[in-house]
Amino acid sequence: MKDMKLVVAGAGGRMGQALVRAIAEMPGAVLHGAIERDGSPVIGRDAGELAGAGHADVAITTDPLAAIAHADGLLDFTTPAVSADLAGYAAQARIAHVIGTTGCGADEDAKIAAAARHATIVKSGNMSLGVNLLAVLVRQAARALDAADFDIEVLEMHHRHKVDAPSGTALLLGEAAAAGREIALADHSVRVRDGHTGPREAGSIGFATLRGGSVVGDHSVILAGQGERITLSHHAEDRSIFARGAVKAALWAHGRKPGLYSMLDVLGLSD
Ligand code: NAP
Repeated sequence: MKDMKLVVAGAGGRMGQALVRAIAEMPGAVLHGAIERDGSPVIGRDAGELAGAGHADVAITTDPLAAIAHADGLLDFTTPAVSADLAGYAAQARIAHVIGTTGCGADEDAKIAAAARHATIVKSGNMSLGVNLLAVLVRQAARALDAADFDIEVLEMHHRHKVDAPSGTALLLGEAAAAGREIALADHSVRVRDGHTGPREAGSIGFATLRGGSVVGDHSVILAGQGERITLSHHAEDRSIFARGAVKAALWAHGRKPGLYSMLDVLGLSD
C-alpha cells in the first residue's frame, strides 16, 4: 500500500514541528504539505529542516486548499477557529482530519461535527495512549465509588505558553468521570473557585489549573473520601507522545467512513 500523504497545519508551532518529526519516523506516512498562517516568519522554509528532521522537500505555505488538494490527511494542532475552518476544507476534499487543538467552543464544535458528515475526523484533547487509558480507569473508578462518599477533583499543570484552561485533557478526564457517574459534566463542573465559595457541592467535579515553566502536561484525578484518597495520574515528558498518537490516528482514519471519532476509537478502548 502507498504511504499516506499528510499535511501538517501550524507546522511552525511546538506540536507542528513534533508532528513533522513523527511523520519522518513513522512507516506508512509521508509529509506532503505544511501550512502556517499568513505573515508567519516561517513561510517558505523547509518543514523538515525547521523541525530538525532533515530536508523534507516540503516548503511551508499559507494556502490550505492547495496543500490538501492531493493529500490523504491533515494533522492539525492550531487554534479553535483555524481547526473549524480546516474541517470544512477536509470535508470538501473528503480526507482524514486529525484535530488535536483544544479550547474549541460550541460554535467550532458544531462546524467540526457538520464537516464530519464528509470528512473522517479524529478529535481528542489528548492523543497519547497513556491518557486515554487513564480516562478508562477514571470512568471505572468514578462508577465504583459513590458520589456521596467520594469527591472528584481534576488537577493539571502546563507550560507558561498554554492559552486555554482547563486543559483539553483535564476536560477529557472530567468527561470520563462524569460518564462513570452517569451525569453531564456541563451541569456538575466547578471550573474556578475564588473567595467565599461555601462548602463543596456533593457530586460536583472540580478543576484546578497550574501554569508555569516548560511542563509538557501533568494531570491528576483525585477521588477524595472520608479518611482515604485515590490519585490517578499521568505525566507527559515529551510532545512526541501526542505527535505519534496523531500520526497513528491518521493512519487508522485513512479510508474509514466519514464521522467524528475519538482516540478511544483509534486505540480500541471505547466500549
Ligand atoms: P503553538 O506552538 O502556538 O502552535 C500553533 C501553531 O498554529 C502556531 O505555529 C501558529 O502560528 C499556527 N497557526 C495559527 N494560525 C494558523 C493558520 N491560519 N493556519 C496554519 N497555522 C496557523 O501551540 P502548540 O503548543 O503546538 O499547541 C497547539 C494546540 O494543540 C493547542 O490547542 C494545544 O492545547 C493543543 N495540544 C493538543 C494535544 C493533544 O494531544 N490533543 C497535545 C499538545 C497540544 P503563529 O504562532 O505564527 O500564530
